[in-house]
Amino acid sequence: QFSRQMSTEMQSVASRLQSSGLLRTQGLIGGKWTNAYDGKTLEVNNPATGEIIAEVACMGRKETNDAISSAFDAYKSWSKLTAAERSKRLRKWYDLLMAHQEELGQLITLEQGKPLKEAMGEVGYGASFIEFFAEEAKRVYGDIIPPTLPDRRLFVLKQPVGVVGAITPWNFPLAMITRKVGPALACGCTVVIKPSELTPLTALAAAELALQAGIPPGAVNVVMGNAPDIGDALLASPQVRKITFTGSTAVGKKLMAGAAGTVKRVSLELGGNAPCIVFDDADLDVAIKGTLAAKFRNSGQTCVCANRVLVQEGIYDKFADAFSKAVQNLKVGDGFSEGVVQGPLINEAAVNKVETFLQDAVSKGAKVLLGGKRHSLGMTFYEPTIISDVNSEMLLSREEVFGPVAPLLRFKTEEEAIHMANDTNAGLAAYIFTNNVQRTWRVSEALEYGLVGVNEGIISTEVAPFGGIKQSGLGREGSKYGMDEYLEVNQICMLGGHEPKLMGEVNTQT
Ligand code: NAD
Repeated sequence: QFSRQMSTEMQSVASRLQSSGLLRTQGLIGGKWTNAYDGKTLEVNNPATGEIIAEVACMGRKETNDAISSAFDAYKSWSKLTAAERSKRLRKWYDLLMAHQEELGQLITLEQGKPLKEAMGEVGYGASFIEFFAEEAKRVYGDIIPPTLPDRRLFVLKQPVGVVGAITPWNFPLAMITRKVGPALACGCTVVIKPSELTPLTALAAAELALQAGIPPGAVNVVMGNAPDIGDALLASPQVRKITFTGSTAVGKKLMAGAAGTVKRVSLELGGNAPCIVFDDADLDVAIKGTLAAKFRNSGQTCVCANRVLVQEGIYDKFADAFSKAVQNLKVGDGFSEGVVQGPLINEAAVNKVETFLQDAVSKGAKVLLGGKRHSLGMTFYEPTIISDVNSEMLLSREEVFGPVAPLLRFKTEEEAIHMANDTNAGLAAYIFTNNVQRTWRVSEALEYGLVGVNEGIISTEVAPFGGIKQSGLGREGSKYGMDEYLEVNQICMLGGHEPKLMGEVNTQT
């Protein structure tokens, strides 16, 4: 199944994956591993080397419609299992994901490029959603509402929304899936997953483990290939009651518009433009470490990555100097090599985008303090970069760079920092570094962002809500709020006495 053109080193990784049964290249429909109906395949590349890792089924509308039918059939029984039973199987899935942490980590590094240690961390993070939602499955409570008439009883039931279409990006090939599929299954929904075509192998391996965990055939389906066709099939089907999407704002807007045809629920986790604000009164060491983590993990390809580093004028030069010293030590290379902390970008197009942003900034007066060019390793590698004197006119501060570039912007006052931070359509994550307690509250409340890190650079966790405001999205993932996305709130109004009311006798008009 794996491409024969691989180097010996890659082949040994591949054969380990193969022997653990986690290497899948077909889609999963109704519990059966399935080729594209027309036999088409799609190449998956290793971004560090450009090697073809595997050829996976390239699917479209027909396969998606069959996956939806399978999910619809499976919904009838999965939603009727007891919550305790669903919980048990999710827990088993978690155990299997963790038992295969190493192989899954290798798969992530192979197809996505992030350093192996970070990839293993993603497996732990991704699996944590399954463990958390296995517990939450048992806590879907309804309500009893005090009635306004004595002979009535009012009950509120929370019921699964039904079949869910989950469309995910390449930057976290496992975690973006488990963050959606965990709560969906916990609530009694079934899913059709469409992973990114750039990183389908991790999704397929996770689905294989779901089957092994006793999650029934059809409850989890995976189709990949022609993204617009698959997206259209999911949007058009009245059986799909919800689309959950993580990816670019442009595609999110298309999906939201497309969902109108069948009035589906939509939740969207879209792009960010995170400000990272370093105040004069910050602990410099904490600010450096926090900004480093917020900016450079996953080579800067994270929706919550610090996209603009706003530094107060009194600490600007000192921060720029210390930050440059810290960043120049980051070892760049193949994610499988020892000690590497920055892998490749996902593809050459991503590097070209970074280059365009850099050229735009330099042509408008910004100064490169560190890096600022392609790495000598070539292809998809870019040097860790710090660029100063960036202003709000430059692409670097208007859009997500999605690469290892930290643009520094200068500010004078707290008000100015808040204004600059909020001057964007995005509203996902923001970071502040300060030792002033009053300021932490004042600024975090004034920031128009769904997540605010205070003296912390890595803030996502399965137990707290994750999501954006403004054009960064709708809905929340993780935590008890993440369950709400997959539950309908239904009212039952019961006659409790002997006398039914007639029109005009009760104060209701609808
Ligand atoms: P993308 O929008 O290009 O792709 C995301 C997914 O949508 C992929 O599976 C892709 O195949 C699919 N897709 C593309 N066109 C489609 C269509 N017409 N119909 C249906 N599906 C379609 O995004 P990407 O490049 O994979 O991911 C990077 C983006 O994701 C960044 O903007 C990043 O900020 C964002 N992101 C957001 C979060 C978050 O939680 N807010 C998390 C991770 C990534």
